[in-house]
Amino acid sequence: MASFIDFPDALKCGLPMLTAEGAMAAEYAAEMKDIWNQDLCTRRPAFIVQPKSAADVQSILKAYKAAPEPRPPLAVACGRHSARGFVDGALVVDLSKWKSVSVDATSKTVTVEGGAKLGDMDAELSKHGLAVCTGTNPDTGVIGLSIVGGGGFLARLHGLAVDNFVEATVCTAEGELVKCSDSENTDLFWGIRGGGGHFGIIVSLTMRAHSLTNLAVVEHPTFCRKAEPQTKEMLERWGAWAQEAPNEVGGLMVVPCGAPVNVIFCVSANASVVPQEKLKKKSVGSSSSFFKNPMKWSDIPGLCDLENDTFGGSFRIGGKNLRLMDYHAGAQTYLVPHQKPGHFYEAAFMLPTMTPEAAGVMARMTKTNIAPNGKCALLVFMFGGKASEASNEATAIESRDYRYWVIVEGSWEYSKDKAVNDARKAAVAEWTRKVRLELAPHGLKESPHVFEGEDEEGGTGLRKAFVDSNIDRLLALKHKYDPQNTFPFNKILNKEDSEGKKE
Ligand SMILES: Cc1cc2nc3c(=O)[nH]c(=O)nc-3n(C[C@H](O)[C@H](O)[C@H](O)COP(=O)(O)OP(=O)(O)OC[C@H]3O[C@@H](n4cnc5c(N)ncnc54)[C@H](O)[C@@H]3O)c2cc1C
Repeated sequence: MASFIDFPDALKCGLPMLTAEGAMAAEYAAEMKDIWNQDLCTRRPAFIVQPKSAADVQSILKAYKAAPEPRPPLAVACGRHSARGFVDGALVVDLSKWKSVSVDATSKTVTVEGGAKLGDMDAELSKHGLAVCTGTNPDTGVIGLSIVGGGGFLARLHGLAVDNFVEATVCTAEGELVKCSDSENTDLFWGIRGGGGHFGIIVSLTMRAHSLTNLAVVEHPTFCRKAEPQTKEMLERWGAWAQEAPNEVGGLMVVPCGAPVNVIFCVSANASVVPQEKLKKKSVGSSSSFFKNPMKWSDIPGLCDLENDTFGGSFRIGGKNLRLMDYHAGAQTYLVPHQKPGHFYEAAFMLPTMTPEAAGVMARMTKTNIAPNGKCALLVFMFGGKASEASNEATAIESRDYRYWVIVEGSWEYSKDKAVNDARKAAVAEWTRKVRLELAPHGLKESPHVFEGEDEEGGTGLRKAFVDSNIDRLLALKHKYDPQNTFPFNKILNKEDSEGKKE
């Protein structure tokens, strides 16, 4: 392995360089403890550098370019939710200490810089009665999540995050700041809408915001006495319902392993029927507050047909749960207690339709003894609506005509005994592989969302998320903006791809 012993001196960018040993060892150790997927905490980046402005990022990249070989490979971290940020042996440009969010209420836009998280952005937007289409977990990075698509509860109403990009500034490997939008560097603007961080470090992103609505929210934990056949039926029937649901309805079905229970969580953002006056009782994303602000089912056309339907399950636990919920404090924090930091091995796929066969695979993978433990789950999100309106070529993200986004949430109980822990992780990884393999004949397509499980195929699996026409455009862009492959860890394009494309 190359030694980078003198590298900090070579990288004279004026910023502290955190290393596992030496003067900054305590700071380095603190950062390596603070990663959502704690399975990554044992990784050993060579250096961590933490810019707090676009000028810092420019200095880092210019110094990196000028530094003599051998150089450690360069990785970028934002919200720290993927496996691609903190990479063994890498120089990690960690944006997490730079969090700037500014809202322009007049033009209804928000600009985020560096490593601002969804929670940071939501806190600012809520002051202005605005919301942006991004994800559902406040701890994920806004830019990291958005540049690979970005889907949340409002995606069917207002499109994916990428459909709401207004402009961005990218710092290239040369350390140059390049603005892109619908009227400036349009090729780059197309590429960062789904193509991730292949072309440089995105230092700022402006997105369109939308008027905020309180949401009508339903949560149905449903018991399935006969776990496998009833889960299959639930997936099929809920899938058919989701496909036809109006655009203002979004949500997911959670299919946990090892329990004969499935949970449907759906929201309606139909402002003409969901009361927008101040909520009577504060509603935040915890189960105790869920039971505040009950609503009448008949008031919400998009959800009322869920009232009596168990979708084939035996019965619903908790009865009729339709509530009024604050968008930011309630819905956007709702999944937090279910997605606490832990040990994860995940993957993400798209499914075009919910065929009986696909539903059967998901039921079998979760409700039989195939699953490695009771901490794993499948999360099936509704796509469609506005998220499916753009053509596959309009932005780099594809699969617009797919209707379900399936997250394989592989997790396990950590053991201090390394052999035991490794075996548990291997069992979860094997299960993830099985789910992918078994769903493959039923229309599965890879999703560009950046998870650990996509590394299974040597880093090229993500490529299947793109059709050939978009791959060619992405490669051409890679060659224009990052011909030396300075940003190698995004994995949609790999090194060989980039080199093979040299003119
Ligand atoms: C618990 C959980 C919930 C999730 N929920 C949703 C959801 O509701 N909707 C959704 O769409 N996705 C969701 N995701 C998927 C998420 O979009 C991806 O995991 C995303 O990559 C996370 O971004 P991050 O910034 O938090 O992670 P990081 O690991 O910090 O970054 C992810 C990748 O993006 C690159 N990157 C980050 N910032 C920049 C930048 N400024 N410039 C260039 N490259 C950059 C990094 O190199 C890295 O490869 C979820 C993931 C998890 C783990």
